[in-house]
Amino acid sequence: MNLDELRRYADEVEATPLSTLLDKASPDVRAALKRALACKELTPEEGLLLYTAQGDDLSAMMKCADLARAEDVGNEVTYVVNRNINFTNICFVGCQFCGFKRQKWESDAYDHSDEVILSKVQDAVARGATEICMQGGINPDMPPFKYRDLLVTIKSRFPDVHIHAFSPMEIMYGARRTQMDYPEYIGMLRDAGLGSIPGTAAEILDDSVREILSHKKVDVATWVEIISTAHALGVPTTSTIMYGHLESPRQVVNHLNILRGIQKRTNGFTEFVPLRFIHENTVLFRKGLVSPPPVGLLDFQMYAFSRLFLRGSIKNLQTSWVKLGVDLAAITLKLGCNDFSGTLMEESITAQAGGTSGEFVPVDLIEEKAREMGRVAVERTTTYQKLYGRRAPNGARPIVSAEAARANPHPH
Ligand code: SF4
Repeated sequence: MNLDELRRYADEVEATPLSTLLDKASPDVRAALKRALACKELTPEEGLLLYTAQGDDLSAMMKCADLARAEDVGNEVTYVVNRNINFTNICFVGCQFCGFKRQKWESDAYDHSDEVILSKVQDAVARGATEICMQGGINPDMPPFKYRDLLVTIKSRFPDVHIHAFSPMEIMYGARRTQMDYPEYIGMLRDAGLGSIPGTAAEILDDSVREILSHKKVDVATWVEIISTAHALGVPTTSTIMYGHLESPRQVVNHLNILRGIQKRTNGFTEFVPLRFIHENTVLFRKGLVSPPPVGLLDFQMYAFSRLFLRGSIKNLQTSWVKLGVDLAAITLKLGCNDFSGTLMEESITAQAGGTSGEFVPVDLIEEKAREMGRVAVERTTTYQKLYGRRAPNGARPIVSAEAARANPHPH
């Protein structure tokens, strides 16, 4: 289906009464959907049925996901004004799905100085950013306390900005380099100003797939340990999945089941973000190990299933305009999503892998897309406090300029 057909499909589902759609669904799917609507926790078997739903089953699931979203988080579409800073693209890990990493001798390898990073933060804060999102490659020459020192450098100049930084892979690397255990290391980062951690480097939480995607990457047990430790120390994290590559439906369901289990224990996830695999400039695609993921219906399955399977545990479902494009991301607002991510201002991991959705989205465009979907956009903080009608320090609405954003293109 093309974008217009996908939009028409979502509109049709929205306009059709729930009872009609449920009547057309197969009995097992109908039963699972009714349980989800009654706020019962879905079993992994029910999850598998839903994630693989097609045709009338998919339509009924989309409708139920939208209703569950409205009931659980209302009609506002939240977004955060943030800036990504990818402080280095030098990395020795070699993930097969990554087009961002460079070896240090490559001509376009970089490792930003503190001055460059501070000027990016300064620019972002002046234009209204409340959050700085920082991730980078795993640089073999990194000084052991680099991540802590980066936090101190930024926070000493910009004490109010929220720093959302360092994936579990970076945390694992930093802890190894400093020879600290995870509680000690994450506690040190928190005390230096780390506000929250991106739940990236999750890819698929299945070691057999991870071995193929990136055998040097943090394994499932370590990812869970780092995330749970952060939550125990009062550092919230997001949660993510990368779908559309080598994973099976069962592995997708298990992944969400692991996240749901963590959330029951810690309540530390702020949101769940499905991230479609961008294949173009990746080794996986060049080696012929993956086909381009189908655009549209797989995304519809993923988003609607996530809303229902995570119901009662992770309440914010974030769409990724970076991976889907702004127009398709807007349609997912009708399939259970309530958050439109951030303005970003730089995003080079996806761009380097072949993503073409750009590096920023102005607040006006988020508002316009929400309106088109019959919803209202509202700015939020990283931890989902609403910021109604806020203005940037320069008096303007927090809007990112295209030129400034493109001049400084953005990983994981
Ligand atoms: S995804 Fe991250 S860890 Fe993996 S190769 Fe790319 S930059 Fe390195």
